[in-house]
Amino acid sequence: MEKEIGKLKKEKGAVILAHNYQLPEIQDMADFIGDSLELARKSAEIKCKLLVFCGVKFMAETAKILSPEKKVLLPEIDAGCPLADMAQPEKVMEFKEKHPDAWIVSYVNTSAEVKAVTDVCCTSANADRVVQNVPVKKVIFLPDKNLCGYVRKRVPEKEILCWDGYCYVHDRFTEYEVRKAREIHPDAEILVHPECRQEVQELADGIYSTSGILRRARETESRKLIIGTEEGMIYRLKKENPEKEFYSLGAPKICYNMKKITLKSLKTALAEEKYEITLPEEIMTKARLSLERMIEYI
Ligand code: SF4
Repeated sequence: MEKEIGKLKKEKGAVILAHNYQLPEIQDMADFIGDSLELARKSAEIKCKLLVFCGVKFMAETAKILSPEKKVLLPEIDAGCPLADMAQPEKVMEFKEKHPDAWIVSYVNTSAEVKAVTDVCCTSANADRVVQNVPVKKVIFLPDKNLCGYVRKRVPEKEILCWDGYCYVHDRFTEYEVRKAREIHPDAEILVHPECRQEVQELADGIYSTSGILRRARETESRKLIIGTEEGMIYRLKKENPEKEFYSLGAPKICYNMKKITLKSLKTALAEEKYEITLPEEIMTKARLSLERMIEYI
């Protein structure tokens, strides 16, 4: 299967991008692995006509928005993100009408349609800086309430209205799991993602985005790390830091949407060039603006 994928990739001049939460065998087939924004940026930089995005739909859409001239494929069209689905454009506009003086700051985990009605996008790595630097006092932050709470704490001078969404994977980490992990591994450093609940964030040693967790794991002197994010990260962390020990915080938390792509569907995607991501021009133009504006405010 791997040989066939390699052959098809070469024949078609395709580039494979994989998110950090993808299955190990998919990560091994990828030309680049990263978080959603790193991959979107990569997709705009690389010179190729065909991009196969192994991740969830909003990520493939973001890649298409930033590189509209390329054909972008998502091997499993129903690999969605339940967090992104918690904000619909009509509801966002309804909320905005009640707060006309607020700017909409959207996490990249949103659909292209929501990005198109957004003032500025952010990632988990720069959400606090973006909110701090936007030229308004009031912000509607969506869709993740836990990330919103993290930003509120760091930017107390702004009025931040949180959308009531959450990631079903990160929201499942508990305070008990952090306390238990400390008891079992008192010498370990506990790192969690800002999509985890506030009480989990407060008990951890550090709160980092996925790219931040990778950086911290490389730089820290701790030999043992406990990770509070989707379990797919452990594979990459172990591969890049073979001299260190990594454990999932509590029972491993799995994003089933991220695991939908298999070697078989990746091969079919390349062979049949499916499923192509297409978006209306107007949506892409507006969504691109909100993504580009993020750079101005970090
Ligand atoms: S881990 Fe959470 S935010 Fe990421 S794709 Fe899965 S549901 Fe969405």
